[in-house]
Amino acid sequence: MVIILKNDPNENQLNNLLCLLEKKGISVQKTVGVSKTILGLVGDTGAIDIDALRALDIVEDVKRIQEPFRLANRKLHPDDTIIKVGNAAIGDGSLTLIAGPCAIESEEQICMIAKSVKASGAALLRGGAFKPRTSPYSFQGLQEEGIRLLIKAREVSGLPIVTEITDAEQLPLFEDVDIIQVGARNMQNYELLKRLGKIDKPILLKRGLSATYDELIMSAEYIMSGGNGKVILCERGIRTFESYTRNTLDIAAIPVLKKRTHLPVIADPSHATGKADLVAPVSAAAAAAGADGLIIEVHNDPPRALSDGAQSIRCEEFEELSRQLKTLVKCIR
Ligand code: PEP
Ligand code: MN
Repeated sequence: MVIILKNDPNENQLNNLLCLLEKKGISVQKTVGVSKTILGLVGDTGAIDIDALRALDIVEDVKRIQEPFRLANRKLHPDDTIIKVGNAAIGDGSLTLIAGPCAIESEEQICMIAKSVKASGAALLRGGAFKPRTSPYSFQGLQEEGIRLLIKAREVSGLPIVTEITDAEQLPLFEDVDIIQVGARNMQNYELLKRLGKIDKPILLKRGLSATYDELIMSAEYIMSGGNGKVILCERGIRTFESYTRNTLDIAAIPVLKKRTHLPVIADPSHATGKADLVAPVSAAAAAAGADGLIIEVHNDPPRALSDGAQSIRCEEFEELSRQLKTLVKCIR
């Protein structure tokens, strides 16, 4: 980190600043130029509040040279993180398919879809029990009962399960869940992230609707700094001016996040597009861009789905897509 001082800084204020930095264990290299004095900070500057420094009378500007995330940073941890759940591995160079309905609706529905997607090559089963819906009048999910049914579907299919938490109070219900999803709307729910940092379970962290790469990575850093390093990042589309698709899949997010972090990165073509017919081409694009996996909404009867029917592909369509992706991956990896 570098602090650029204003011309002729007040000596007292400068000494106070140097004392403060020293107390934080930071050593300072002072360079006096013709018109400017620059302080180069050496040490762990991660906990320094840049805005507080900028607010000082003698400071003109502060620049970070190192990225503000340490635990997720590829530069400090060059090896890929591989997350293993049951027989599935995310981040090992393969393309892991996570498939299932947006919401768990009944035992029959979730068990039927689970068996079908397993037979088609999915490695994990998704299904929402707590649904963060835009309208309070829409189906909110089967909640506790939904998790019970999802566990049942794991028993009949053998697939590990992924489901979304919307509040830390729900944590006791997630004890037997394999991967906990944090949805786009909760990406910056820092109290929730801190609680998830204290548990020993993989977290699937979805990018917020208008979150930058740095904001997503810093949210992962919240979980990791609590002690839980098992974080999977998910690009699920962001808000743009385009309204034809539900969101816009930011394809560059995949290589960027893989370059800057060592965490597995997956893509969600269902929420990114909002349209079932776009799921296959966008899945192929994400796989080609290097995604470690895809999370895809699959329903046995999309027109009757209680949520996200328009973007849900049928079981037969998933079977076909899975086959195509296998061929694609063979060609490009
Ligand atoms: C979901 O996966 O069903 C979901 C609500 O996703 P997102 O948080 O990305 O909107
Ligand atoms: Mn959904």
